Amino acid sequence: MNCVDCSIGQYKLREHCGVFGIAGSRHAALHAFRGLYALQHRGQEGAGIVSTDGKSLYEHKNLGLVNEVFKDKRIFEKLKGTFAIGHNRYSTAGETNYINVQPITINFKMGVISAVHNGNLTNAIQLKKGMEEDGSIFQTTSDTEVILHLLARAPSNELYLMIIDALKKINGAYSLLFLSPESLIAVRDPRGFRPLNIGKLGEAYIFASESCAFDILGAEYIRQLEPGELVVVDRNLNLQSFSPFPPRENRICIFEFIYFSRPDSTIFNTSVDKVRRSFGRQLAREHPASADIVISVPDSSNTAAVGYGQETGIPYDHGLIRNHYIGRTFIMPEQDIRDADVLIKYNPVREVLKGKRVVVVDDSIVRGTTSRKLVRMIRQGGAREVHFRVASPQIKYPCFYGIDTPTSQELIASQKTVEEIRAYLDADSLGYLSKEGMLSVKELPSVQYCTACFDGAYPV
Ligand code: SF4
Repeated sequence: MNCVDCSIGQYKLREHCGVFGIAGSRHAALHAFRGLYALQHRGQEGAGIVSTDGKSLYEHKNLGLVNEVFKDKRIFEKLKGTFAIGHNRYSTAGETNYINVQPITINFKMGVISAVHNGNLTNAIQLKKGMEEDGSIFQTTSDTEVILHLLARAPSNELYLMIIDALKKINGAYSLLFLSPESLIAVRDPRGFRPLNIGKLGEAYIFASESCAFDILGAEYIRQLEPGELVVVDRNLNLQSFSPFPPRENRICIFEFIYFSRPDSTIFNTSVDKVRRSFGRQLAREHPASADIVISVPDSSNTAAVGYGQETGIPYDHGLIRNHYIGRTFIMPEQDIRDADVLIKYNPVREVLKGKRVVVVDDSIVRGTTSRKLVRMIRQGGAREVHFRVASPQIKYPCFYGIDTPTSQELIASQKTVEEIRAYLDADSLGYLSKEGMLSVKELPSVQYCTACFDGAYPV
C-alpha cells in the first residue's frame, strides 16, 4: 500500500485509522501489536494499545510507527491481561501531537474506559462547543473524546446502554472499539462508512478494520460487523449482538475498495483484490489504448493495472520501482517537500520502458502534481508514449467522513476538464473510470455506497 505513490496520497488524512481489538487471549497486547502492524497502512502518525486484566487498564502509546512505538519489548510486560484494543492514527499535520494519539482513556462515574475510533463525526464541533459551554474540559482535539464525554453524561448505569445513548447524538462515520475492565464493545455506524470485522483465534474474539490483521495472527475471518451493529464481549467471552439504531441506508465508503484497504484484505465481506481488479478491467473497457505494456504506480494500483492488462491483453510489467523505506509523503505538510519525496520514492526501470508505448494505471488523481511528475519520469525512462488511466472517477469534492481532502479549489478535477488535465499531466491520453462503470462491477457487494467525493451527494 502506498500513498505518495498514488495521487490520493496527497490527501492529508484525518481520523482515517486502523483499529484492532482482542478479547480472551493471554497474549492480547502482543496480538494487538501484530494486528496494528498489519494495519500500518491505515495510519502512521501514532500508535497505541490499552489492555486490561479485569481490574485496571494499562496503556502504552506514542507518536510514530507501530514497531517504533513498541520497540522495547518490555512494554508488553506492562500491558497485562487478556483483553486489548489498539489504534493506528492518521491526522492532519496541525494535529500531530501526543495528546491525540489513541486509545483515549477517561475516568467517569462507572470507572475507567478507553476507546479507539476510525471515522469522522460531522457534528463533533457543535457538540463539543455545547459541552464546553456547560463546563466540560477537553484534553484533546479528537472527535473520539467528544464521544467519551457524551458517554460519561448518559443517564444509564449499563455501559453498553451509555454508549448507545452517546452514539444516538452523533452523526458521521465511526467504527469504534471500547475497552473497560469488564468488557470489549465494538460498534459500527448505521450507514457503515468504515469497515469493521470480527474474527476468531481459538477462543478469542478479534475485531479489526481489515482482515489482513487476522491473517498475521493465523486467525479466522468470521464476518463484518453490520452497519449499526453493536457487539459486547464480556469477561466470560459471551458475545451479544445488538441493533440499537434506526436502520439507515448504507453509505459504504467506495474508496476503501479503490485505495485505502490492502488488496489482500476482506472488508464488507468482500475481497478487495477482486473488486480492484474488476475496476481495472472496467477501466480497460471504457478507455482502451494502443500500447506495448501496462504498468502500475506501485503498490496501491498494482491490482487495477493487472485487471487492465488482463482485459486488454497488453502485458503487465514493472516500469516503476518504489522505495519502501521512506515515509508517506502526505505526512509532509509543505508542498515542496512532498514533491521532492515523489522523486525520492520512485525510479523508472529504463529497460522496461525504453521505446515503449506505456499505459500507466493509478488509483486516483487528487491535485495532479504527483501524476504530472510520474508522467515526466516515465518519459525520461524512455517511454515513447504515456497513456494515463485512472481506476476511479474524477475527485471533485472534499470528504467529510474520515479523510481531510484538499478544498475543491485544490482538486484538479473540479477546476479542469479531462482534456485540460491531460495537457497538464503531459500525457498522450487520459481516461478515468466512470462512476456508473465503477458501481456496475459485479464483484462489488450490492449495497449503497458513498460516492460524495465524485458527485457531491453527501449522505450526512
Ligand atoms: S466522500 Fe469519498 S472518501 Fe469520503 S466517505 Fe465518501 S466515498 Fe469515502
